[in-house]
Amino acid sequence: MKLPDFLQSAALNELRSKMKAPLGEFEPVSLPPLTLSLSEQEQLQESGIEIPLEEVRIAEDQRLTYKEAHVVLYIRTPVSDNLPKFHICDCTKLRQMRANHRFDRYVVSNREDGHFEIEQSGQKKVLHLDVCQYCLGQMKWMGFSYEKIRPEDRQKIVKNFSLKEFFNQYGHITSQRKSP
Ligand SMILES: [Zn+2]
Repeated sequence: MKLPDFLQSAALNELRSKMKAPLGEFEPVSLPPLTLSLSEQEQLQESGIEIPLEEVRIAEDQRLTYKEAHVVLYIRTPVSDNLPKFHICDCTKLRQMRANHRFDRYVVSNREDGHFEIEQSGQKKVLHLDVCQYCLGQMKWMGFSYEKIRPEDRQKIVKNFSLKEFFNQYGHITSQRKSP
């Protein structure tokens, strides 16, 4: 198959000149596979992206990443009336789920308002979810400890947990992508 020579296209050349984009040297390197498309970036901020659990990567500090983004993870369709928790790292609970090969619909997201799209009885809803306490313990968030802190104080930390603060502290993009 012969590909068209786009360098001969008047429309594209005009566009390139409008963009003031120099004609680059062709490098036979494909786009990095970890790059998020624009639509994926939007989905992460809105409805989240459903992915198989294996596609979630674990950063060195145990946080969860999808492609180049730091994400949180939750289950789209809760099995009971209990709302799912969202996970901010590879906690004990998540490792259990992985070991049990649970076939839930896992969603990654980087929304900062604590609200997530779930499905209950076939209905889509956007609800506030709580952060997973195993995760808080593992990240030692605000000194959180399952053993050393009373349940009511643990609950306070859960209620005050802010994803905005979490992402501010750790960033939206993984460090491996930040390096020059
Ligand atoms: Zn967790």
